[in-house]
Amino acid sequence: MSRIVYLNGEYLPEGEAKISIFDRGFLMADGVYEVTSVLDGKLVDFDGHVVRLARSLGELDMGNPLSKEELLVIHRELLMRNDLVNGGIYLQITRGAPGDRDFVFPDPETTPQTVVLFTQSNPDLLNNPKAENGIKVISIADERWGRRDIKTVQLLYPSMGKMMAKAAGCDDAWLVEDGAVTEGTSNNAYIVKGGKIITRNLSNDILHGITRAAVLRFAREAQMEVEERAFTIEEAQAADEAFITSATMFVTPVVEIDGAAIGSGKPGNVAPRLREIYIEESRKSAI
Ligand code: PMP
Repeated sequence: MSRIVYLNGEYLPEGEAKISIFDRGFLMADGVYEVTSVLDGKLVDFDGHVVRLARSLGELDMGNPLSKEELLVIHRELLMRNDLVNGGIYLQITRGAPGDRDFVFPDPETTPQTVVLFTQSNPDLLNNPKAENGIKVISIADERWGRRDIKTVQLLYPSMGKMMAKAAGCDDAWLVEDGAVTEGTSNNAYIVKGGKIITRNLSNDILHGITRAAVLRFAREAQMEVEERAFTIEEAQAADEAFITSATMFVTPVVEIDGAAIGSGKPGNVAPRLREIYIEESRKSAI
């Protein structure tokens, strides 16, 4: 069965969904995106993703073509039409296709934005072997642009980072700037020391992860100590545990950084516990 996707107001078989070669998303990476995870056929943290989407659009002086209610209808329609149980919904909004290539932003009155959504099935969302065994990461220089708080589609460097990790026999890369870890290529990064959870403070240097916000809230509710500050790779290698969070990986332990085992070299107690809490709470609040 062909996947049904959403493009500018229409639900189409994926092969029939076409956009212009002049689309600024294609020519200039002039677009933003969100990925909302789908658990048991329901949307996790939908409100958080909609709020971040609005913020990304606003920071780039782009309009917000769809209301929260309209977005919810589209998300649910795609879930239904594709029988999606576990996985995610990808959403992208670009500044549209002005009919030629120009650095200057087109007039939004005459150039409608492009809106695309599609489902991605992930039967291993809950039983991901990476969650069970942990992942290995390398560190690389953070060579992205300075507005990482905006969720833009310019993902070339993160993509290169994943390839560098793969070439080193690892799963992902942690990005380092001015001696401190910013985040993972597509996730937020954490260490645990003496029971305390440490993760980079929010700024323009990192994406404000929706999963990050939820996990830190649950950790505090469970009386765990949280410190939001920068940390180095050396500090991470000497930590008791390390882990990442994202909408697609939830909470996933990190067991090795640049070849050094973290703690025992196996997932510890904190990350698996946080994963359990996160999944339990997300199941309750998913819509
Ligand atoms: N940082 C980066 C750079 C990311 O790409 C992502 C996932 N898109 C995250 C963090 C995690 O964000 P979220 O929890 O909202 O998926």
